[in-house]
Amino acid sequence: MDITLKRRTTKVVNVGSVSIGGDNPIRIQSMTNTDTLDTKATVKQVIELANAGCELVRITASDTKSAEKLYDIRNEIVKLGYDIPLIADIHFNPKAAEIAAKIVDKVRINPGNYIDRNTQNDYSEQQYQDELSRISERLQPLIEICKRHKTAMRVGTNQGSLSQRLISRYGNTPLAMANSALEFVKICKSFEYEQLVLSMKSSNVRTMTIATRLLVDMLDAESLNYPVHIGVTEAGEGEDGRIKSAVGIGSLLTLGIGDTIRVSLTEDPVAEIPVAQAILQSSGCRVFKAEIISCPSCGRTKYDIEAAVRQVKTRCSHLTGVKIAVMGCIVNGPGEMLDADYGYIGSLDGKVHLYRKGKLAFSNVEEHKAIDVLLEMIAQDGKSK
Ligand code: SF4
Repeated sequence: MDITLKRRTTKVVNVGSVSIGGDNPIRIQSMTNTDTLDTKATVKQVIELANAGCELVRITASDTKSAEKLYDIRNEIVKLGYDIPLIADIHFNPKAAEIAAKIVDKVRINPGNYIDRNTQNDYSEQQYQDELSRISERLQPLIEICKRHKTAMRVGTNQGSLSQRLISRYGNTPLAMANSALEFVKICKSFEYEQLVLSMKSSNVRTMTIATRLLVDMLDAESLNYPVHIGVTEAGEGEDGRIKSAVGIGSLLTLGIGDTIRVSLTEDPVAEIPVAQAILQSSGCRVFKAEIISCPSCGRTKYDIEAAVRQVKTRCSHLTGVKIAVMGCIVNGPGEMLDADYGYIGSLDGKVHLYRKGKLAFSNVEEHKAIDVLLEMIAQDGKSK
């Protein structure tokens, strides 16, 4: 078994001012939930997302009118001094995709919308291939526009909108989802278009992760190293949505899969950004703030560890790249925090030992003074920013 932790090798896809894949950081994206025809509200939300740390913003373009509106939205955003890449989200209207592809940096299309509306359950090989040829013909104009305008494309497969043709061959399964994307990849390649990002979305975490792993295996087997976008669609809201997203996205990230992520919450999209950052940091993929670990405490703990963790988080989170361990006791604490830069460990009643790189630096510091001593020590080490 290969137990090395490495990121899947992917090609770089340029989306305006931001690159996805290769050695680039795993990008955070989100989507507006305003009416695209309301330029003011949409621009305001894009700016709020950019200020929160979102790196690419998707805007729905459900028809040709809203696709045209992207032009005004783009101009207003540029006027305000932002160059955040915009992505048009297209579902049922290939014409809207063709308009949007001339305006924005990337278009997201759903392969399920480039299909004949057939309901038949059986396809002969000839019928199957004929439908693929019709898809290719319908997709070609968009591909040519994307090539001319250097617009990237996400082929975003949703389990809920698979074609009857694929379902007839593979069932409504992760295999059908992976093949749905692979067909589009091959069509794009036949027109020498390579600026692709792929995604497998489902509200079922297991389906999403299995489909993505299948897709990646199928792509890599054919040396088609396109980046992937990962996310759990319709994850919900509050703690449920956050946990569901963390499980789905996090499990793929820890396997080295994923070049851009979106946490989908039924909330203000700005709320998605800190969750995405926390997922990325927890999986060791990107660092946004200090890493603070703490033990659950037990009968050996002789100080208020919960208050200590809150205080260390409040006063030290801005120290990006620093790892601090807050531990309950000196019996097991020092051994369990060996890879931390600093340790804050309960000793006697109301007293704390402070450690630097696993070595005792200050012993039995009064609990109420310990955070200041810790911060001074960090500052002395030149890590106070
Ligand atoms: S580090 Fe000490 S206080 Fe914390 S859980 Fe372990 S034994 Fe208990």
